Amino acid sequence: MTNRRNDEIDRRDFMLASVGALGAAALIAGTAQAQDAGAKPETSGAAGTAFTGDIIDGKQVITALDISDLEPGKHSFYFRGAQMPTGQHWYVSVMVAKGAAPGKRLGLISGVHGDEMSPIHTLQTVMNQLDPAQMSGSVIAVFDLSRPAVEAMSRRWHSSGRGMDLIDINRAFPGNENAPEASTRHAGLVFNRLLRPNLDYGLDFHTAATAMDATAFHLARMDQPDVRAMAELFPIDQIFDNFGEVGLLANALIDAGIPALTPEIGKPRVFDHAMIELFVEGTLNVLKHHGIITGPMGRTGADSGVFIADGMLPILTTHGGFVELLVELNEVVVEGQKVAIQRNTFGEVVAEYTTPRGGEVGARRTDATAEEGTPIVFIVFDSATPVGGDAIVE
Ligand SMILES: [Zn+2]
Repeated sequence: MTNRRNDEIDRRDFMLASVGALGAAALIAGTAQAQDAGAKPETSGAAGTAFTGDIIDGKQVITALDISDLEPGKHSFYFRGAQMPTGQHWYVSVMVAKGAAPGKRLGLISGVHGDEMSPIHTLQTVMNQLDPAQMSGSVIAVFDLSRPAVEAMSRRWHSSGRGMDLIDINRAFPGNENAPEASTRHAGLVFNRLLRPNLDYGLDFHTAATAMDATAFHLARMDQPDVRAMAELFPIDQIFDNFGEVGLLANALIDAGIPALTPEIGKPRVFDHAMIELFVEGTLNVLKHHGIITGPMGRTGADSGVFIADGMLPILTTHGGFVELLVELNEVVVEGQKVAIQRNTFGEVVAEYTTPRGGEVGARRTDATAEEGTPIVFIVFDSATPVGGDAIVE
């Protein structure tokens, strides 16, 4: 209320000044965090849970989480993220199950992409099964990290700064609280005030993108022992051993010293209950592995015969048209095998697609049409497997 908005004030000062509109507790915590974020991005200490004093649908609103100051038990909050153009905020749903005994802290994240529903159900199922009285350590679930994307059943964040932009927030981590763009600010708020100070390990759940379907798989950096140990505890089909992209939440967590991976639960937009069951079982195995809960280990990758691939090859269309796929998920394919036929509106064949190398089908397109240059099948493979002819590798 006492803020003086001045066009010449620099953006960082503005971000700090606007904290002054909050209550005193939030002012102290928020300012300290913002300064930390600017000066020492690697700082990992939490500065106390900061409450705004607001209640939404019975849930307390927080601007920072520090699970060390929570009582054992289950807690639900709305975390206040980036501001919308109207001046209200995007609130993110957070649940903490804090054990009666101390121990490791696992973060479960969904909703980084808003069209990926099975991850949300997976987190709800796991959290519902936890009994804090029997736990040593904590589980923190963030259900709808990219809130506007979830509202729109959309992969990308809807940003209106310069007219509508659609931004993939999973290329923006660890974010920046002072960035001139809402999704990057939001990524920074969530990363600095919710995740980094409270996690020892992280699982950021995803699915295939809209118009694709995929096997039960992980994107995981298997050269990292702690990542590998968690990844192999899921009774799934495939693991793609790969760095992925700069800006992935899992990579930002790893850079902050928090081993993390990206489980991928099949198709987007729907609940795939059969596949959710596999990832719930794997997540409970990870909790047992870290001693947060006790009980016999469930099925793991050893039981499912998980295929660890170090390569992934997209087969791209060379024409626009209607695509008929000839291969199914998980199907083993050999070099030169025909995987799809494409026709024009008259039904005339305009292209046939073969795989330039053998492997397994990891993902396939579900929309019947495809523009030129659209991936229609992804083949995953192990590069140690011999390749003949002029196969494309990487
Ligand atoms: Zn995703």
